[in-house]
Amino acid sequence: EEKVSRNFIQLEIDHDLAEGKYDSVCTRFPPEPNGYLHIGHAKSILLNYGLAKEFGGRFNMRFDDTNPTKERMEFVESIKEDVKWLGADWEDRLFFASDYFDTMYECAVKLIKKGKAYVSELTPEQMREYRGDFKHGAKEDPAASRSVEENLALFEKMKNGEVEDGKMTLRARIDISSPNMNMRDPVIYRVAHMTHHNTGDKWCIYPMYDFAHPIEDAIEGVTHSICTLEFEDHRPLYEWVVRETEWEHPPRQIEFAKLYLDNIVTGKRYIKKLVEDGIVDGWDDPRLVSISGLRRRGFTPESIQKFVELSGISKANSVSDYAMLEYCVREDLKPKAPRYMAVLDPIKVIIDNYPEDVTEQMEVTNNPENEQLGKRTVPFSREIYIDREDFMEEPPKKYFRLYPGNEVRLMSAYFVTCTSFEKDADGKVTCVHCTYDPASRGGNSPDGRKVKGTIHWVNAATAIDATVRNYENLVDEEKGVYDEEGNLNLNPNSLEVLTQCKLEPTFAGAQSYDSFQFVRHGFYCVDAKDSKPDALVFNRIVSLKSSFKL
Ligand code: ATP
Ligand code: MG
Ligand code: MG
Repeated sequence: EEKVSRNFIQLEIDHDLAEGKYDSVCTRFPPEPNGYLHIGHAKSILLNYGLAKEFGGRFNMRFDDTNPTKERMEFVESIKEDVKWLGADWEDRLFFASDYFDTMYECAVKLIKKGKAYVSELTPEQMREYRGDFKHGAKEDPAASRSVEENLALFEKMKNGEVEDGKMTLRARIDISSPNMNMRDPVIYRVAHMTHHNTGDKWCIYPMYDFAHPIEDAIEGVTHSICTLEFEDHRPLYEWVVRETEWEHPPRQIEFAKLYLDNIVTGKRYIKKLVEDGIVDGWDDPRLVSISGLRRRGFTPESIQKFVELSGISKANSVSDYAMLEYCVREDLKPKAPRYMAVLDPIKVIIDNYPEDVTEQMEVTNNPENEQLGKRTVPFSREIYIDREDFMEEPPKKYFRLYPGNEVRLMSAYFVTCTSFEKDADGKVTCVHCTYDPASRGGNSPDGRKVKGTIHWVNAATAIDATVRNYENLVDEEKGVYDEEGNLNLNPNSLEVLTQCKLEPTFAGAQSYDSFQFVRHGFYCVDAKDSKPDALVFNRIVSLKSSFKL
């Protein structure tokens, strides 16, 4: 076990518990159901879940569905599936913020009664002007001097549907001259005559995020409300709301830096456009770093957990390397995935001195790094396929694979020597002829003669046809993610589809999400959308080698 030092959030919690500020820990993951989750959310999910687990506390799954404009139930199901798959178990603690609208309303009334909130009639433009900016001071809202009674009556009108959208808001009375813009009497309720997916037409006023979120946390008994850095300036408002709405056990907000991936598209706006333009095959396209895309590509929850752990929790923004994510999945799959032979771009090899009507069964170890995966037998006969790149008519120096006159080892089978080859009218090699040494069965020759090259192969008569998809980054890394106009620099080669692949028969029955190492090629996963039992489709998760170093 490597020793990982405790991150600053763990230290804060240690401190809070030692001081008796809290006697248990409760965290939450609070997505707005307005899109699919991505690798950045995975960081937040695993961080919150991990802290709850470490401190023997609770982890809540909460949909922050207080904004009726953007939210859709379709996303609720996909988010639940993704969070479960990542291994964050909320047990029976699944919540919807919209279930708290009554309490939020009561909190607003409480603030009005305390003289801490007032109904404003500023238009959005006036509101902007009155609140000022960093350079310009704010102006007092003419409504700030309303009496409590008047404010209660007007807020009641807002609630009863007697006020048009945009005509009135409820503002918190905090500090109109605060250097922190968020504290300049922020709007906490707005009028919006809209149907909400959960509460229907019950409400025509909706709370603003900065007011709703602390109350949601307080209602659930969340102790540590962990959010990303852009909310640091909102923390004084968070604290003001929990203090003024008077909770016995107020939660506290802690911010950490978002996860960014170098040269990878994560922006929702961009992904949406790629989906709409048909450049990717939906939000779960295996080239995307959405959780569903990563799952479909063949990433494992363990690999994402490891990646999040290695990327660390910090207060300073930084960018992580996609190669590190690849490293994590490679390390995870190395011992887990069976290693089978697959030929992606086949050429036929005929072993002329091998009997025509014989098929042998060769015994092969499934994963030399993991004995538990056992052994299998693989058929071998006179006609096999090898990968096109394993034969050359005129090899350069240090090419140890098959070429006229050269002897190589067919993995777990025999030594073969290339005697001749055939080409079609275009000069493309169509067939390679060899002879084999019957004494070299299993891949060693009794006379101790060495061969430098070992290549994989697939028996022709029993081969399974398959489609294999190799991926590269969606964007051109050389050019950078965005061009001058802010559009994506797309990589035209991000998807390569190989339709003539030949697999050893062991692959029969491979199921969605099953992962394998294709010997000498990489790690591949059965595509959950497009693969059929009689027409298997594989996605390349990651190649075998990388220059990435930890
Ligand atoms: P949007 O407001 O466009 O939906 P979002 O996806 O960041 O943006 P949420 O759905 O509210 O917003 O995100 C849920 C949680 O995931 C939040 O607590 C947020 O801080 C966290 N989160 C979002 N993106 C990242 C990221 N890149 N790294 C770490 N945590 C993130
Ligand atoms: Mg979101
Ligand atoms: Mg958000």
